[in-house]
Amino acid sequence: MTQTRSLIDENGKRTDGRTRDQLREIKITAGVIKNADGSAFIEFGMNKIVVAVYGPREVHPKHMALPDRCVLRCRYHMVPFSTDTRKNPAPSRREVEISKVMREALEPTLMLEDYPRAAIDVYVEVLQADGGSRCAGITAASVALADAGINMRDMVSACAAGKVDDRIVLDINDTEDKEGDADMPVAYMPHLEQVTLLQLDGILDEDQFNQCLDEAVNGCKMVYEFQRTALMQKYFGNETELKEEQ
Ligand code: ADP
Repeated sequence: MTQTRSLIDENGKRTDGRTRDQLREIKITAGVIKNADGSAFIEFGMNKIVVAVYGPREVHPKHMALPDRCVLRCRYHMVPFSTDTRKNPAPSRREVEISKVMREALEPTLMLEDYPRAAIDVYVEVLQADGGSRCAGITAASVALADAGINMRDMVSACAAGKVDDRIVLDINDTEDKEGDADMPVAYMPHLEQVTLLQLDGILDEDQFNQCLDEAVNGCKMVYEFQRTALMQKYFGNETELKEEQ
């Protein structure tokens, strides 16, 4: 991450016009894939990601089955046209790593012990990437898992914060990710108040680290409201507003 130009102007506005603590626009739709048991589509800024969940179902190969709990498998994948230069469709090291951290971010919320000898497969397809795609993917995956009716302790909401031009900012975009100083993606269970993912790319001192984490957790709480609305919309439709008022 080498900084080449100023990413925050004299009015405190970022490259996409946001203020320091503003999220990008978020839209989530639950239940978009009829052939999956659960699914979700998320637009998180310019990120466009579709998630499909299959299961709980029989494990193949069978020797992977666990006698006392369900196996969770996640696959994060970016399609060739998701980035400015064509991305090789074969899984890269980065995608293998993100698939692993996604599984670890989602596992704590799932009551896997309720489905022994079974598997749940989560497919995360990034159609368009704009920085923060792992956070957007985890957020959508959590909605898709709830849509599949899988027993969960909480939602998992994810959002990054970072350091740009020596300031801590919420929800790093692609330019800030590439040209900024630090990027900290966080996934968080808002009711249990537990962090399930914390990564850091860049260098922060102790104060900046704590500030960044607080900012990211606040972002996750805001993201949670969009997840909740998406599920309410799917299951209650127009009654959503009525119920929220009661
Ligand atoms: P995240 O998307 O979770 O922030 P990274 O920090 O690894 O993950 O990536 C930041 C951004 O870099 C991605 O959202 C994407 O826009 C871009 N990017 C990632 N991999 C590639 C690639 N192979 N080719 C072009 N751009 C990429």
